[in-house]
Amino acid sequence: MMAITIEKQSGKAFILKKNQKLKVIDSEGGQVSDLVLFNSQDIREKLSSGKTLDFEETILISKGNFLWSNRSSKMAKIVEDTNGRNDFLLAPCSPETFKIMYNFEGYHPSCFENLAVNLKPFGIAPDDIPNAFNIFMNVQFQMDGKLTVNAPNSKAGDYLVLEALMDLIVGITACSAEDSNGGTFKPIVYEVYD
Ligand SMILES: [Zn+2]
Repeated sequence: MMAITIEKQSGKAFILKKNQKLKVIDSEGGQVSDLVLFNSQDIREKLSSGKTLDFEETILISKGNFLWSNRSSKMAKIVEDTNGRNDFLLAPCSPETFKIMYNFEGYHPSCFENLAVNLKPFGIAPDDIPNAFNIFMNVQFQMDGKLTVNAPNSKAGDYLVLEALMDLIVGITACSAEDSNGGTFKPIVYEVYD
């Protein structure tokens, strides 16, 4: 088993075969990782936030929950989650995020760009990228629906493991949004094993 580092504000994409496991590690603590999944046999089937929140009957997806596709198939099962706080409401940060929410002008790295660049060799176009499962992202919500993005609770070494239930293409990042990561950017480490 080899640990692979996703450098800060970057991303990777790779194949995860059915029954293989993916361990996503917050190696330094307080770092979000955006994850998207596609059926490697037919990339029109992909991760669905709406189907997952519907079928799992919760907006807090963690150990024991399944990640579902837009075709209502189980893509993966979360089998370990040492931190336990993840978000599946918000879209990946994109160049526009930093203009609209941060009033930032000029180039800013983003999860969306990092997913698009790394998924392109698999034939996946930017417009085909779904809402990501945002591992370690600490989105809080109030009774009136107000959302806030807080710094992650994850500590160095916290990890989430998912088991593939079909052959998958995985896109994954070390998130680039200041507010999601407590104002600093760190790497994410992952391992693939049988
Ligand atoms: Zn991001």
